[in-house]
Amino acid sequence: MMSVMTRSRFKIPRIKSEKYLNTLRGSPCLVCRRGAEAHHLQHVGERGVGRKSGDNWAVPLCHECHMGLHRFGGERTWWDIEGIDPISWAKRNWDRFNDHSDKRDDTTG
Ligand SMILES: [Zn+2]
Ligand SMILES: [Zn+2]
Repeated sequence: MMSVMTRSRFKIPRIKSEKYLNTLRGSPCLVCRRGAEAHHLQHVGERGVGRKSGDNWAVPLCHECHMGLHRFGGERTWWDIEGIDPISWAKRNWDRFNDHSDKRDDTTG
């Protein structure tokens, strides 16, 4: 399955990782800490997230918050109201996920 050895940093189409999504499902909702499902950030724009986001831009939201967000429409505003920066959260969490799945040997120079 994952036998791709390419290291291209260019034009990564869209990251797909069911495994990552599974780590989000059941984690605490970013807003209210209840068990979450995965929501893909949309049009968070500005810093290159774009309209169609990959699985690395997924964040945990419980069903209620998730539905609330979709009903609300303006995603940016919604996160603002909640006082959460989902982009930096997603980045950090994705990095951490990759740290774990990679063998991470500390070659302290
Ligand atoms: Zn919630
Ligand atoms: Zn969603």
